[in-house]
Amino acid sequence: MSGKVKILVIEDNPANRELFIDLLTVGGYECIGTDKGEEALDLAKRESPELVLLDIQLPGVDGLTVVKLLKAEEETKHIKVIALTAYAMKGDRERFLKEGFDGYISKPVMVKEFLEAIKKYLEG
Ligand SMILES: [Mg+2]
Repeated sequence: MSGKVKILVIEDNPANRELFIDLLTVGGYECIGTDKGEEALDLAKRESPELVLLDIQLPGVDGLTVVKLLKAEEETKHIKVIALTAYAMKGDRERFLKEGFDGYISKPVMVKEFLEAIKKYLEG
């Protein structure tokens, strides 16, 4: 037990995933990463992260499906799930909230804004 806030990062692009994990680690968080939506539910149950950063576009089970799986289970539905999206468009916020996400962050991210957003979502 490290006492650190734990974050699960689900992102299939290795460079992006490493970047997010590096930034979050520097920010003082404990991170777990995977490139597979298929692993999300098991990992969330086993690791009990406070927050999940979830890429929308994944090769297998995509982000929209993963958020529904996480929010459907008693064990995981309290976990905050933040969408990672490559395209921010007008109406995205409403759309993602409707899909079950607690918020979203658009890629590419800037260090300061990214960590501020994570902090805000953890507190909010
Ligand atoms: Mg992707």
